[in-house]
Amino acid sequence: MKRVTLLAEVQQDVCRGCKVCEKVCPVYAISVTDRKAKVKEDACRGCTNCESRCPFHAIKMVKREKPFTIGVDASQYDSGKIRELCEKAHLNPEQVICYCVGVRAEEVAAAIMAGAKTPDEISSVTGIRTGCTIECIQPLLRLIQAAGIELKRDENGWQWYGVTPTAWTLPEDVVQKYNKRGFYFEEDKQLLDRVVHTNPKGEEKK
Ligand code: SF4
Ligand code: SF4
Repeated sequence: MKRVTLLAEVQQDVCRGCKVCEKVCPVYAISVTDRKAKVKEDACRGCTNCESRCPFHAIKMVKREKPFTIGVDASQYDSGKIRELCEKAHLNPEQVICYCVGVRAEEVAAAIMAGAKTPDEISSVTGIRTGCTIECIQPLLRLIQAAGIELKRDENGWQWYGVTPTAWTLPEDVVQKYNKRGFYFEEDKQLLDRVVHTNPKGEEKK
């Protein structure tokens, strides 16, 4: 859940149409036509990514006259299915996966169950990835994959980080090779699985 209080505003006389802002917006709220950037006001989630990356300082963040809240209420969805999806992604439903905005795994799972299929669609409805825009991409991609949705690179090649290997997906020969060098993947998996299966009271599911 996020309270959206800021809006990106482009100073048209300063903008040079370089498209950097278009490439870094996590919700595709900004686009360049006729060498000038324009912001879709309703779509902007106030992350400041475009402002901080514009090489010509053409974007300013302004306070919205009418702030609004975005979020998906996970309690409105089947809790068993949410847990199943989160566990498939090796996440606890209660786990905060976007620290900037405070979005939990269960909220992303609910957004996917509501029909969101891409990182930008999920960011738009939950606010995830509208803080630093980087740290939460991996759990977000894991949840999309766990839901059986094929991950596709954006046709322009933007906003794509690729899925990084986890302790659960490493090939056996790699595990064996690094075990000898002091890595403990099996123990890591067991520890992380305990987190996944622990309820908010700290009780482990048997
Ligand atoms: S990054 Fe700045 S200069 Fe480039 S298109 Fe966007 S607003 Fe214009
Ligand atoms: S969501 Fe972020 S990057 Fe996109 S227009 Fe708004 S402030 Fe800029």
